[in-house]
Parts: sequence; structure tokens; C-alpha cells
Amino acid sequence: MAEIQKYMRQMFIILYKEHEWTIEMIAKQFRMKERTVAAIVEKREQTSHCLYCGKELKQTLGHRQKEFCSPACYRKWRKAHVFSSTAKHVCQLCGKEFINPYHLSAKYCSKLCRDKAYKKSRAI
Ligand SMILES: [Zn+2]
Ligand SMILES: [Zn+2]
Repeated sequence: MAEIQKYMRQMFIILYKEHEWTIEMIAKQFRMKERTVAAIVEKREQTSHCLYCGKELKQTLGHRQKEFCSPACYRKWRKAHVFSSTAKHVCQLCGKEFINPYHLSAKYCSKLCRDKAYKKSRAI
């Protein structure tokens, strides 16, 4: 794409998104066809990038927005994401750090600690 077109596109998108211009207003201001402006502004809407590898994704209008280029990327992203978000679990009974990729709100490092904690709460 030519530099000038890229520049125009960015400007249209800023006007449309941040200044809340309508497509009609932009078309009038720049003496362009509304259809052309709409195509430029909405084209941007349809492209996004894979959350894992950053590859450009082609979105299909009327379909749910894709977030990943492939199921493999989704699995890798999920794994990385889940593990990083659970890395700082601290057992509420023994204070040990642990990772639980399946329960984001896990409180205890093991079944043993969970059972002990349960018994403790019952004893009070
Ligand atoms: Zn990907
Ligand atoms: Zn524990």
C-alpha cells in the first residue's frame, strides 16, 4: 500500500474512533465516496493479530472474532497464560509456593493441606 494511503487510513480511523466523526462527515471533508471511506475504516476492524505469535488474522464478517491463527497457538498461549497467572500461589496453610494450572483460585498446595485446613476450620 502507498504511504499516502496508509496515512489517510490512519487519519480516517482516528477521526472515526477518537473524534467520533461519521463516515459521511469524513467522506464530505475529504471529497471521497462514502463507500470508499467505509471500506477503509471497516477494513481495519476486520484485521487483528494472533495473541500468541502476532500473525495477522483475517476476520470473516458476521463471525465471532478470531484471536488465534491456529489451535496450536491457542494451546500454547493458554498454557503460558495460565501458568504465569498461577505462578504466585501460596498455600494458605503451610506457606509453600505452588502452581495449579487448573484452579486459578486454589488455596492449598496439596490435598493434605486442604484436608488439614478443613479439619482446623471444623475444630473451631
Ligand atoms: Zn499464531
Ligand atoms: Zn501446603
